[in-house]
Amino acid sequence: MLLDRLRSSIDRIALLDPEGSLSYLSLIERSQGLCEELCAPNLDRRGERVAILCRPGREFTIAILAVWWAGAIAVPLHPEHPGPELDHVVADSRCSTIICSPQYAQSAAGLAATHDLRAVECDGRRRSTTSRPSPAAEDDALIVYTSGTTGRPKGVVHTHASLAAQMSGMVEAWDWTADDRIICVLPLHHVHGLVNVTLTPLWVGALCESPGGFDAGHVWNRMASGDLTLFMAVPTVYARLISAWESADASTRARWSEGARRLRLMVSGSAALPVSVLDRWQELTGHVLLERYGMTELGMALGNTLERRVPGHVGWPFPGVEAMLDEESQLRIRGPQVFDRYWNRPAETAASFIDGWFCTGDIAEFDEQGYRLLGRASVDILKTGGEKVSALEIEEVFRTHPAVADCAVVGVADAEWGQRVAIAIIPTPDSDADEFTLEHVRSWGRRLLSAPKVPSLVLVVDGLPRNAMGKVVKTEVAAMFQPAAGTGG
Ligand code: AMP
Repeated sequence: MLLDRLRSSIDRIALLDPEGSLSYLSLIERSQGLCEELCAPNLDRRGERVAILCRPGREFTIAILAVWWAGAIAVPLHPEHPGPELDHVVADSRCSTIICSPQYAQSAAGLAATHDLRAVECDGRRRSTTSRPSPAAEDDALIVYTSGTTGRPKGVVHTHASLAAQMSGMVEAWDWTADDRIICVLPLHHVHGLVNVTLTPLWVGALCESPGGFDAGHVWNRMASGDLTLFMAVPTVYARLISAWESADASTRARWSEGARRLRLMVSGSAALPVSVLDRWQELTGHVLLERYGMTELGMALGNTLERRVPGHVGWPFPGVEAMLDEESQLRIRGPQVFDRYWNRPAETAASFIDGWFCTGDIAEFDEQGYRLLGRASVDILKTGGEKVSALEIEEVFRTHPAVADCAVVGVADAEWGQRVAIAIIPTPDSDADEFTLEHVRSWGRRLLSAPKVPSLVLVVDGLPRNAMGKVVKTEVAAMFQPAAGTGG
Protein backbone atom coordinates (compact mmCIF):
# COMPACT_ATOMS: atom_id res chain seq x y z
CA MET A 1 0.00 0.00 0.00
CA LEU A 2 1.16 3.55 -0.68
CA LEU A 3 1.55 4.56 3.00
CA ASP A 4 3.87 1.59 3.64
CA ARG A 5 6.10 2.55 0.73
CA LEU A 6 6.82 6.16 1.71
CA ARG A 7 9.44 5.16 4.31
CA SER A 8 11.69 3.60 1.72
CA SER A 9 12.28 7.08 0.22
CA ILE A 10 12.77 9.23 3.35
CA ASP A 11 15.94 10.93 2.12
CA ARG A 12 14.44 11.97 -1.18
CA ILE A 13 12.45 15.05 -2.23
CA ALA A 14 8.77 14.21 -2.66
CA LEU A 15 7.38 17.42 -4.02
CA LEU A 16 8.09 20.94 -5.10
CA ASP A 17 5.49 23.70 -4.90
CA PRO A 18 5.61 27.51 -4.79
CA GLU A 19 6.73 27.30 -1.11
CA GLY A 20 9.74 25.14 -1.95
CA SER A 21 10.58 21.46 -1.66
CA LEU A 22 9.42 18.85 0.84
CA SER A 23 11.18 15.56 1.60
CA TYR A 24 9.48 12.21 2.00
CA LEU A 25 10.41 12.29 5.69
CA SER A 26 8.69 15.68 6.14
CA LEU A 27 5.70 14.44 4.17
CA ILE A 28 5.35 11.47 6.52
CA GLU A 29 5.78 13.56 9.67
CA ARG A 30 3.49 16.34 8.56
CA SER A 31 0.76 14.03 7.34
CA GLN A 32 0.94 12.15 10.65
CA GLY A 33 0.78 15.53 12.42
CA LEU A 34 -2.38 16.47 10.55
CA CYS A 35 -3.76 12.99 11.19
CA GLU A 36 -3.41 13.53 14.95
CA GLU A 37 -5.34 16.75 14.64
CA LEU A 38 -7.96 14.99 12.55
CA CYS A 39 -8.33 12.19 15.07
CA ALA A 40 -8.30 14.38 18.20
CA PRO A 41 -9.55 13.79 20.79
CA ASN A 42 -8.85 10.10 20.27
CA LEU A 43 -11.77 9.53 18.01
CA ASP A 44 -11.83 6.72 15.55
CA ARG A 45 -12.12 8.10 12.02
CA ARG A 46 -12.17 4.77 10.19
CA GLY A 47 -14.57 4.77 7.28
CA GLU A 48 -15.54 8.43 7.75
CA ARG A 49 -15.52 10.63 4.67
CA VAL A 50 -13.22 13.62 4.79
CA ALA A 51 -13.52 16.32 2.12
CA ILE A 52 -10.29 17.92 0.93
CA LEU A 53 -10.39 21.55 -0.23
CA CYS A 54 -6.68 22.18 -0.55
CA ARG A 55 -4.15 23.82 -2.81
CA PRO A 56 -2.24 21.40 -5.02
CA GLY A 57 1.23 20.72 -3.67
CA ARG A 58 2.12 20.09 -0.04
CA GLU A 59 -1.25 21.04 1.42
CA PHE A 60 -3.24 18.64 -0.74
CA THR A 61 -0.71 15.82 -0.49
CA ILE A 62 -0.34 16.10 3.29
CA ALA A 63 -4.13 16.19 3.60
CA ILE A 64 -4.82 13.03 1.60
CA LEU A 65 -2.10 11.07 3.38
CA ALA A 66 -3.44 12.29 6.76
CA VAL A 67 -6.90 11.04 5.84
CA TRP A 68 -5.43 7.65 4.98
CA TRP A 69 -3.34 7.41 8.17
CA ALA A 70 -6.62 8.03 10.00
CA GLY A 71 -8.24 5.12 8.15
CA ALA A 72 -10.76 7.53 6.63
CA ILE A 73 -11.93 8.01 3.03
CA ALA A 74 -10.68 11.04 1.06
CA VAL A 75 -13.18 13.05 -1.00
CA PRO A 76 -11.20 15.60 -3.05
CA LEU A 77 -13.04 18.79 -3.99
CA HIS A 78 -12.15 21.34 -6.64
CA PRO A 79 -11.70 24.70 -4.89
CA GLU A 80 -13.09 26.59 -7.86
CA HIS A 81 -16.32 24.67 -8.22
CA PRO A 82 -19.47 26.69 -7.52
CA GLY A 83 -21.30 26.17 -4.21
CA PRO A 84 -24.08 23.91 -5.54
CA GLU A 85 -21.55 21.39 -6.95
CA LEU A 86 -19.50 21.32 -3.75
CA ASP A 87 -22.73 20.95 -1.75
CA HIS A 88 -23.73 17.96 -3.84
CA VAL A 89 -20.44 16.13 -3.31
CA VAL A 90 -20.24 16.84 0.42
CA ALA A 91 -23.89 15.93 1.01
CA ASP A 92 -23.91 12.84 -1.20
CA SER A 93 -20.76 11.38 0.36
CA ARG A 94 -21.96 12.42 3.84
CA CYS A 95 -18.62 13.85 4.90
CA SER A 96 -17.99 14.37 8.61
CA THR A 97 -14.97 16.62 8.23
CA ILE A 98 -13.40 19.01 5.76
CA ILE A 99 -9.68 19.73 5.52
CA CYS A 100 -8.87 23.05 3.88
CA SER A 101 -5.91 25.18 2.96
CA PRO A 102 -5.87 28.46 4.89
CA GLN A 103 -6.79 30.31 1.69
CA TYR A 104 -10.01 28.29 1.38
CA ALA A 105 -10.98 28.62 5.05
CA GLN A 106 -14.00 30.77 4.22
CA SER A 107 -15.49 28.35 1.66
CA ALA A 108 -14.77 25.48 4.04
CA ALA A 109 -16.51 27.30 6.90
CA GLY A 110 -19.56 27.78 4.65
CA LEU A 111 -19.67 24.09 3.76
CA ALA A 112 -19.06 23.14 7.40
CA ALA A 113 -22.00 25.26 8.56
CA THR A 114 -24.39 23.94 5.89
CA HIS A 115 -23.46 20.29 6.26
CA ASP A 116 -22.50 20.17 9.92
CA LEU A 117 -18.87 19.29 9.27
CA ARG A 118 -15.82 19.78 11.37
CA ALA A 119 -13.33 22.04 9.55
CA VAL A 120 -9.60 21.39 10.00
CA GLU A 121 -7.00 23.69 8.47
CA CYS A 122 -3.97 22.22 6.78
CA ASP A 123 -1.08 24.62 6.66
CA GLY A 124 1.32 21.68 6.48
CA ARG A 125 3.33 22.68 9.54
CA ARG A 126 2.28 20.41 12.39
CA ARG A 127 4.53 17.34 12.68
CA SER A 128 4.34 14.05 14.45
CA THR A 129 6.86 11.24 14.61
CA THR A 130 4.35 8.83 16.09
CA SER A 131 3.94 6.09 13.54
CA ARG A 132 0.43 4.96 12.79
CA PRO A 133 -0.72 1.66 11.41
CA SER A 134 -1.75 1.83 7.78
CA PRO A 135 -5.25 0.80 6.74
CA ALA A 136 -6.06 -2.59 5.26
CA ALA A 137 -5.86 -3.13 1.50
CA GLU A 138 -9.58 -3.75 1.20
CA ASP A 139 -10.53 -0.57 3.12
CA ASP A 140 -12.16 2.25 1.15
CA ALA A 141 -9.63 4.99 0.34
CA LEU A 142 -11.12 7.46 -2.09
CA ILE A 143 -14.38 8.74 -3.53
CA VAL A 144 -14.10 10.64 -6.82
CA TYR A 145 -17.20 12.09 -8.45
CA THR A 146 -17.99 11.44 -12.08
CA SER A 147 -20.90 12.33 -14.36
CA GLY A 148 -23.30 9.67 -15.54
CA THR A 149 -26.23 9.62 -17.92
CA THR A 150 -28.72 9.92 -15.08
CA GLY A 151 -28.92 12.45 -12.30
CA ARG A 152 -26.11 14.32 -10.64
CA PRO A 153 -22.51 13.10 -10.49
CA LYS A 154 -21.99 9.87 -8.58
CA GLY A 155 -19.18 8.85 -6.26
CA VAL A 156 -16.75 6.19 -7.43
CA VAL A 157 -15.24 4.31 -4.50
CA HIS A 158 -11.68 3.04 -4.75
CA THR A 159 -10.02 0.91 -2.08
CA HIS A 160 -6.34 1.08 -1.11
CA ALA A 161 -5.92 -2.12 -3.10
CA SER A 162 -7.48 -0.79 -6.31
CA LEU A 163 -5.34 2.35 -6.09
CA ALA A 164 -2.24 0.23 -5.44
CA ALA A 165 -3.02 -1.87 -8.53
CA GLN A 166 -3.40 1.30 -10.61
CA MET A 167 -0.13 2.78 -9.43
CA SER A 168 1.92 -0.38 -9.73
CA GLY A 169 0.42 -0.96 -13.19
CA MET A 170 1.59 2.47 -14.35
CA VAL A 171 5.03 1.96 -12.82
CA GLU A 172 5.39 -1.26 -14.76
CA ALA A 173 3.96 0.05 -18.03
CA TRP A 174 5.88 3.31 -18.10
CA ASP A 175 9.07 2.32 -16.24
CA TRP A 176 8.64 4.84 -13.42
CA THR A 177 11.70 5.07 -11.14
CA ALA A 178 12.80 7.20 -8.20
CA ASP A 179 14.74 9.38 -10.66
CA ASP A 180 11.58 10.52 -12.40
CA ARG A 181 10.28 14.02 -12.08
CA ILE A 182 6.90 15.17 -13.32
CA ILE A 183 4.87 18.40 -13.27
CA CYS A 184 1.18 18.37 -12.35
CA VAL A 185 -1.02 20.76 -14.33
CA LEU A 186 -4.29 18.87 -13.87
CA PRO A 187 -6.94 19.20 -11.18
CA LEU A 188 -6.82 16.77 -8.26
CA HIS A 189 -10.49 15.78 -8.09
CA HIS A 190 -10.04 13.31 -10.98
CA VAL A 191 -7.81 10.24 -11.22
CA HIS A 192 -5.58 11.63 -13.99
CA GLY A 193 -4.12 14.49 -11.92
CA LEU A 194 -4.53 12.70 -8.61
CA VAL A 195 -3.43 9.09 -9.14
CA ASN A 196 -1.29 9.25 -12.30
CA VAL A 197 0.58 12.48 -11.64
CA THR A 198 0.45 13.15 -7.88
CA LEU A 199 0.36 9.75 -6.16
CA THR A 200 2.26 7.44 -8.53
CA PRO A 201 5.51 9.42 -8.03
CA LEU A 202 5.14 8.74 -4.28
CA TRP A 203 4.84 5.01 -5.02
CA VAL A 204 8.39 4.95 -6.41
CA GLY A 205 10.10 7.79 -4.52
CA ALA A 206 9.97 10.19 -7.48
CA LEU A 207 9.28 13.93 -7.44
CA CYS A 208 6.15 15.84 -8.45
CA GLU A 209 6.23 19.56 -9.11
CA SER A 210 2.96 21.37 -8.36
CA PRO A 211 2.86 24.90 -9.70
CA GLY A 212 -0.84 25.06 -8.75
CA GLY A 213 -2.46 25.04 -12.17
CA PHE A 214 -1.76 25.17 -15.87
CA ASP A 215 0.24 27.95 -17.44
CA ALA A 216 1.63 27.07 -20.88
CA GLY A 217 4.72 29.31 -20.62
CA HIS A 218 5.60 27.88 -17.21
CA VAL A 219 5.27 24.30 -18.45
CA TRP A 220 7.46 24.97 -21.49
CA ASN A 221 10.06 26.65 -19.30
CA ARG A 222 10.08 23.74 -16.87
CA MET A 223 10.50 21.34 -19.79
CA ALA A 224 13.30 23.51 -21.12
CA SER A 225 15.06 23.42 -17.72
CA GLY A 226 16.02 19.80 -18.30
CA ASP A 227 14.75 18.84 -14.82
CA LEU A 228 11.63 16.96 -15.90
CA THR A 229 11.61 13.39 -17.19
CA LEU A 230 7.84 12.91 -17.62
CA PHE A 231 4.79 14.85 -18.69
CA MET A 232 1.16 13.69 -18.64
CA ALA A 233 -1.87 15.69 -19.68
CA VAL A 234 -5.18 15.77 -21.53
CA PRO A 235 -5.21 16.55 -25.27
CA THR A 236 -6.49 20.10 -24.64
CA VAL A 237 -3.34 20.87 -22.65
CA TYR A 238 -1.16 19.69 -25.55
CA ALA A 239 -3.24 21.81 -27.96
CA ARG A 240 -2.72 24.84 -25.74
CA LEU A 241 1.01 24.18 -25.43
CA ILE A 242 1.18 24.04 -29.22
CA SER A 243 -0.61 27.44 -29.50
CA ALA A 244 1.77 28.98 -26.94
CA TRP A 245 4.73 27.65 -28.95
CA GLU A 246 3.27 29.05 -32.18
CA SER A 247 3.02 32.50 -30.65
CA ALA A 248 6.52 32.53 -29.11
CA ASP A 249 9.54 34.14 -30.76
CA ALA A 250 12.11 32.07 -32.64
CA SER A 251 14.71 31.80 -29.88
CA THR A 252 12.10 30.85 -27.27
CA ARG A 253 10.68 28.21 -29.62
CA ALA A 254 14.12 26.74 -30.15
CA ARG A 255 14.84 26.64 -26.41
CA TRP A 256 11.46 25.06 -25.59
CA SER A 257 11.70 22.44 -28.32
CA GLU A 258 15.23 21.55 -27.40
CA GLY A 259 14.35 21.14 -23.70
CA ALA A 260 11.21 19.10 -24.36
CA ARG A 261 13.23 16.58 -26.38
CA ARG A 262 15.09 15.64 -23.23
CA LEU A 263 12.07 14.28 -21.35
CA ARG A 264 11.87 10.50 -21.49
CA LEU A 265 8.11 10.12 -21.93
CA MET A 266 5.00 12.16 -22.64
CA VAL A 267 1.53 10.68 -22.19
CA SER A 268 -1.91 11.83 -23.33
CA GLY A 269 -5.27 10.58 -22.12
CA SER A 270 -8.75 11.23 -20.71
CA ALA A 271 -10.07 12.09 -24.18
CA ALA A 272 -9.30 11.20 -27.79
CA LEU A 273 -5.99 12.63 -28.95
CA PRO A 274 -6.50 14.17 -32.41
CA VAL A 275 -3.86 12.81 -34.81
CA SER A 276 -3.22 16.44 -35.87
CA VAL A 277 -2.12 17.25 -32.29
CA LEU A 278 0.00 14.09 -32.12
CA ASP A 279 1.72 14.99 -35.41
CA ARG A 280 2.34 18.62 -34.53
CA TRP A 281 3.68 17.68 -31.10
CA GLN A 282 6.13 15.32 -32.73
CA GLU A 283 7.29 18.10 -35.06
CA LEU A 284 7.82 20.47 -32.12
CA THR A 285 9.39 18.11 -29.59
CA GLY A 286 10.37 14.87 -31.33
CA HIS A 287 8.00 12.97 -29.00
CA VAL A 288 5.35 10.58 -30.23
CA LEU A 289 2.74 11.02 -27.52
CA LEU A 290 1.84 7.77 -25.79
CA GLU A 291 -1.96 7.65 -25.78
CA ARG A 292 -3.75 5.65 -23.12
CA TYR A 293 -7.38 5.10 -22.13
CA GLY A 294 -8.65 5.28 -18.60
CA MET A 295 -11.74 6.02 -16.59
CA THR A 296 -12.58 7.19 -13.07
CA GLU A 297 -13.95 3.71 -12.37
CA LEU A 298 -10.86 1.91 -13.72
CA GLY A 299 -7.78 4.03 -13.49
CA MET A 300 -5.72 3.15 -16.55
CA ALA A 301 -7.18 0.32 -18.60
CA LEU A 302 -5.60 0.38 -22.08
CA GLY A 303 -2.48 2.00 -23.39
CA ASN A 304 0.03 2.17 -26.17
CA THR A 305 3.39 0.96 -24.93
CA LEU A 306 6.86 2.44 -24.57
CA GLU A 307 7.89 0.37 -27.59
CA ARG A 308 4.82 0.66 -29.80
CA ARG A 309 2.58 3.70 -30.33
CA VAL A 310 -0.14 3.66 -32.97
CA PRO A 311 -1.70 7.04 -33.81
CA GLY A 312 -5.47 7.09 -33.24
CA HIS A 313 -5.32 3.92 -31.13
CA VAL A 314 -5.32 3.40 -27.39
CA GLY A 315 -3.23 0.25 -27.35
CA TRP A 316 -3.50 -2.86 -25.21
CA PRO A 317 -4.58 -3.77 -21.66
CA PHE A 318 -2.46 -2.47 -18.80
CA PRO A 319 -0.61 -4.99 -16.62
CA GLY A 320 -3.21 -7.04 -14.75
CA VAL A 321 -6.13 -5.69 -16.82
CA GLU A 322 -8.38 -7.83 -19.01
CA ALA A 323 -10.41 -6.29 -21.82
CA MET A 324 -13.11 -7.62 -24.17
CA LEU A 325 -15.74 -6.37 -26.58
CA ASP A 326 -19.34 -7.51 -26.19
CA GLU A 327 -21.76 -8.20 -29.05
CA GLU A 328 -22.51 -4.47 -29.28
CA SER A 329 -18.77 -3.66 -29.50
CA GLN A 330 -18.92 -2.17 -26.05
CA LEU A 331 -15.66 -2.35 -24.15
CA ARG A 332 -15.70 -4.32 -20.91
CA ILE A 333 -12.88 -4.33 -18.38
CA ARG A 334 -11.92 -6.61 -15.50
CA GLY A 335 -9.01 -6.45 -13.09
CA PRO A 336 -7.76 -5.48 -9.64
CA GLN A 337 -7.72 -1.75 -10.41
CA VAL A 338 -11.47 -1.61 -11.07
CA PHE A 339 -13.44 0.43 -8.50
CA ASP A 340 -15.36 -1.22 -5.70
CA ARG A 341 -18.80 0.41 -6.13
CA TYR A 342 -20.69 3.63 -6.68
CA TRP A 343 -21.14 5.29 -3.32
CA ASN A 344 -24.60 4.51 -1.93
CA ARG A 345 -25.89 3.44 -5.35
CA PRO A 346 -26.17 -0.35 -5.25
CA ALA A 347 -28.56 -0.51 -8.19
CA GLU A 348 -26.25 1.52 -10.45
CA THR A 349 -23.27 -0.54 -9.32
CA ALA A 350 -25.08 -3.78 -10.12
CA ALA A 351 -26.21 -2.45 -13.50
CA SER A 352 -22.69 -1.53 -14.55
CA PHE A 353 -21.22 -5.02 -14.15
CA ILE A 354 -22.00 -8.14 -16.19
CA ASP A 355 -20.44 -11.41 -14.99
CA GLY A 356 -17.76 -9.46 -13.11
CA TRP A 357 -16.87 -7.27 -16.10
CA PHE A 358 -17.32 -3.50 -15.87
CA CYS A 359 -19.23 -2.15 -18.86
CA THR A 360 -17.50 1.07 -19.85
CA GLY A 361 -20.12 2.55 -22.18
CA ASP A 362 -17.36 3.07 -24.75
CA ILE A 363 -17.62 1.52 -28.22
CA ALA A 364 -14.35 0.16 -29.56
CA GLU A 365 -12.75 -2.17 -32.09
CA PHE A 366 -9.67 -4.33 -31.82
CA ASP A 367 -7.11 -5.54 -34.35
CA GLU A 368 -3.37 -6.09 -34.60
CA GLN A 369 -2.87 -2.34 -34.05
CA GLY A 370 -4.57 -2.59 -30.65
CA TYR A 371 -7.84 -1.07 -29.45
CA ARG A 372 -9.40 1.92 -31.14
CA LEU A 373 -12.24 3.87 -29.58
CA LEU A 374 -15.18 4.68 -31.83
CA GLY A 375 -17.30 6.74 -29.42
CA ARG A 376 -19.66 6.51 -26.46
CA ALA A 377 -22.75 4.33 -26.35
CA SER A 378 -24.59 7.38 -24.98
CA VAL A 379 -24.65 10.71 -26.84
CA ASP A 380 -25.38 12.37 -23.52
CA ILE A 381 -21.88 11.88 -22.11
CA LEU A 382 -19.56 14.60 -23.40
CA LYS A 383 -15.85 15.12 -22.99
CA THR A 384 -14.65 18.68 -22.96
CA GLY A 385 -11.04 19.51 -22.13
CA GLY A 386 -10.71 15.95 -20.77
CA GLU A 387 -13.64 16.43 -18.34
CA LYS A 388 -16.61 14.10 -18.54
CA VAL A 389 -19.90 15.97 -18.37
CA SER A 390 -23.51 14.89 -18.58
CA ALA A 391 -25.71 16.69 -21.11
CA LEU A 392 -28.78 15.73 -19.08
CA GLU A 393 -27.43 17.30 -15.90
CA ILE A 394 -26.77 20.59 -17.71
CA GLU A 395 -30.23 20.51 -19.31
CA GLU A 396 -31.84 19.99 -15.91
CA VAL A 397 -30.03 22.97 -14.48
CA PHE A 398 -30.98 25.22 -17.42
CA ARG A 399 -34.62 24.14 -17.22
CA THR A 400 -34.68 25.90 -13.83
CA HIS A 401 -33.92 29.22 -15.60
CA PRO A 402 -37.20 31.18 -15.46
CA ALA A 403 -37.09 32.10 -19.16
CA VAL A 404 -36.21 28.62 -20.50
CA ALA A 405 -39.19 26.59 -21.71
CA ASP A 406 -36.98 23.69 -22.80
CA CYS A 407 -33.43 23.05 -23.92
CA ALA A 408 -31.10 20.42 -25.33
CA VAL A 409 -27.38 20.07 -24.67
CA VAL A 410 -25.02 18.42 -27.15
CA GLY A 411 -21.29 18.12 -27.77
CA VAL A 412 -19.92 19.90 -30.83
CA ALA A 413 -16.57 18.64 -32.14
CA ASP A 414 -13.73 21.07 -31.52
CA ALA A 415 -10.02 20.79 -32.27
CA GLU A 416 -8.88 22.29 -28.97
CA TRP A 417 -11.51 21.06 -26.51
CA GLY A 418 -12.43 17.70 -28.07
CA GLN A 419 -16.07 18.70 -27.69
CA ARG A 420 -17.65 21.98 -26.73
CA VAL A 421 -20.81 22.10 -24.67
CA ALA A 422 -23.56 23.55 -26.85
CA ILE A 423 -27.08 24.41 -25.72
CA ALA A 424 -30.19 24.97 -27.84
CA ILE A 425 -32.74 26.95 -25.86
CA ILE A 426 -36.47 27.38 -26.43
CA PRO A 427 -37.44 30.55 -24.54
CA THR A 428 -40.75 30.81 -22.70
CA PRO A 429 -43.41 32.62 -24.79
CA ASP A 430 -43.34 35.78 -22.67
CA SER A 431 -39.56 36.07 -22.48
CA ASP A 432 -37.22 38.05 -24.65
CA ALA A 433 -35.19 35.75 -26.90
CA ASP A 434 -32.44 38.38 -27.01
CA GLU A 435 -31.86 37.71 -23.33
CA PHE A 436 -29.98 34.54 -24.23
CA THR A 437 -26.69 36.05 -25.25
CA LEU A 438 -23.66 33.85 -24.79
CA GLU A 439 -22.56 36.13 -21.98
CA HIS A 440 -25.85 35.82 -20.11
CA VAL A 441 -26.01 32.05 -20.50
CA ARG A 442 -22.45 31.66 -19.29
CA SER A 443 -22.70 33.96 -16.30
CA TRP A 444 -25.99 32.37 -15.23
CA GLY A 445 -24.58 28.85 -15.72
CA ARG A 446 -21.36 29.54 -13.85
CA ARG A 447 -23.24 30.12 -10.60
CA LEU A 448 -24.60 26.59 -10.64
CA LEU A 449 -22.21 24.53 -12.74
CA SER A 450 -18.46 23.95 -12.76
CA ALA A 451 -16.57 25.55 -15.65
CA PRO A 452 -16.45 22.52 -18.02
CA LYS A 453 -20.26 22.18 -17.88
CA VAL A 454 -21.02 25.80 -18.76
CA PRO A 455 -22.11 25.97 -22.44
CA SER A 456 -19.81 27.86 -24.77
CA LEU A 457 -22.15 27.73 -27.78
CA VAL A 458 -25.75 28.94 -27.58
CA LEU A 459 -28.59 28.81 -30.07
CA VAL A 460 -32.08 30.17 -29.49
CA VAL A 461 -34.62 27.95 -31.29
CA ASP A 462 -38.38 27.73 -31.74
CA GLY A 463 -38.44 23.97 -31.35
CA LEU A 464 -36.23 20.90 -31.02
CA PRO A 465 -36.01 18.03 -33.54
CA ARG A 466 -37.87 15.03 -32.11
CA ASN A 467 -38.40 11.46 -33.27
CA ALA A 468 -41.74 9.66 -33.46
CA MET A 469 -41.52 8.88 -29.74
CA GLY A 470 -41.10 12.58 -28.94
CA LYS A 471 -37.46 12.11 -27.95
CA VAL A 472 -35.04 14.88 -28.90
CA VAL A 473 -32.72 13.73 -31.70
CA LYS A 474 -29.34 14.85 -30.41
CA THR A 475 -27.46 14.29 -33.67
CA GLU A 476 -29.81 16.76 -35.38
CA VAL A 477 -29.39 19.26 -32.56
CA ALA A 478 -25.60 19.00 -32.93
CA ALA A 479 -25.92 19.58 -36.68
CA MET A 480 -27.72 22.88 -35.96
CA PHE A 481 -24.50 24.15 -34.37
CA GLN A 482 -22.08 23.16 -37.08
CA PRO A 483 -22.23 26.43 -39.03
CA ALA A 484 -22.02 28.43 -35.80
CA ALA A 485 -19.17 26.44 -34.24
CA GLY A 486 -16.24 28.64 -33.39
CA THR A 487 -18.30 31.78 -32.89
CA GLY A 488 -18.93 31.16 -29.20
CA GLY A 489 -16.83 32.06 -26.17
P1 AMP B 1 -13.33 9.93 -16.84
O1 AMP B 1 -14.00 8.95 -15.94
O2 AMP B 1 -13.72 11.33 -16.59
O3 AMP B 1 -11.84 9.74 -16.85
O4 AMP B 1 -13.83 9.62 -18.31
C1 AMP B 1 -13.64 8.36 -18.87
C2 AMP B 1 -14.00 8.40 -20.32
O5 AMP B 1 -13.09 9.24 -21.03
C3 AMP B 1 -13.90 7.07 -21.01
O6 AMP B 1 -15.03 6.27 -20.75
C4 AMP B 1 -13.76 7.48 -22.47
O7 AMP B 1 -15.02 7.79 -23.02
C5 AMP B 1 -12.96 8.77 -22.36
N1 AMP B 1 -11.53 8.54 -22.64
C6 AMP B 1 -10.53 8.36 -21.76
N2 AMP B 1 -9.35 8.19 -22.40
C7 AMP B 1 -9.61 8.27 -23.72
C8 AMP B 1 -8.84 8.19 -24.91
N3 AMP B 1 -7.52 8.00 -24.88
N4 AMP B 1 -9.47 8.31 -26.09
C9 AMP B 1 -10.80 8.52 -26.16
N5 AMP B 1 -11.59 8.62 -25.08
C10 AMP B 1 -11.01 8.50 -23.87
